[in-house]
Amino acid sequence: AFTKEIIDAETMGRSLKRISHEILERNKGTKDLVIIGIKSKGVYIANRIAKNIKTIEDVEVSVGELDITNYRDDIEKDESLNSTSKIEFSVEGKKVVLIDDVLYTGRTVRAALDAIMDYGRANEIQLATLIDRGHRELPIRPDYVGKNIPTSKQEQVIVKLLEKDGTDGVLISKK
Ligand code: 5GP
Ligand code: MG
Repeated sequence: AFTKEIIDAETMGRSLKRISHEILERNKGTKDLVIIGIKSKGVYIANRIAKNIKTIEDVEVSVGELDITNYRDDIEKDESLNSTSKIEFSVEGKKVVLIDDVLYTGRTVRAALDAIMDYGRANEIQLATLIDRGHRELPIRPDYVGKNIPTSKQEQVIVKLLEKDGTDGVLISKK
């Protein structure tokens, strides 16, 4: 196995700042905007983006946490497994920016859309991902992308985040 760094800490910081600006530009500010991160790394990224937005606009955008373990259609459901989602605001009429670290087949996002719709009727749901590694199996595409990284199915993207791994960076690992 070999690993190669494809995004360093500085580049990741810049990508997340760019995405934050793109979100503000597309939505003409923060009115009715909320952010929902998919656990676990999507939540850290969601909080980074919210922090950038606070710096840029001096507005605090609400951040929710979505646990989709019980929604995936291709993973056996364990009803005893309690979801640890934490969305302490209404999504009704809101523009939701859904955030994850890596977008692959699209099945996690499909499940996340289902879960968000259970919370209420959002006006719009947009998708942001740090890495789009391709191989979609569903008609899902991101509105905001940190970096497109064409991968083979044998490869794996390793996302390191300061909050969890003590360092920022993205590596690609080949078996
Ligand atoms: P999908 O559901 O689109 O097939 O996969 C996306 C989900 O699985 C995301 O929540 C993401 O965290 C995880 N994932 C899929 N492929 C990778 C990968 O190569 N690296 C990492 N770190 N996560 C992945
Ligand atoms: Mg994940």
